Amino acid sequence: MSGDKKIIPLRAKLKPQYRTSKQLHCTHPDIVVNAERRLLQCQRCDLWIEPFEYLLGWARREWAAEYWLNELDEKLRKKAKQLKALKREERNIKARIRRAKGA
Ligand SMILES: [Zn+2]
Repeated sequence: MSGDKKIIPLRAKLKPQYRTSKQLHCTHPDIVVNAERRLLQCQRCDLWIEPFEYLLGWARREWAAEYWLNELDEKLRKKAKQLKALKREERNIKARIRRAKGA
């Protein structure tokens, strides 16, 4: 067997690397489920990911996105209100100019 270059030491390569949320993350989108090991694995960097950690990260990103959208919605409402006030002010100024020219 020794000297046969076709044999790949899979055991050594597939040794699970458990990492928590405080440790190294990968942000690659190519995550696959490994049912045998009950873990997730990144197809690009081979990082093993604990499924709950992955789900937790996903939930946090969803929450952050929702919060960000609510913030934007609020800013949009404020800007629309300001625009309405500016248009009213513009109408008033134009009316004053017309009155001043007519006087
Ligand atoms: Zn990765």
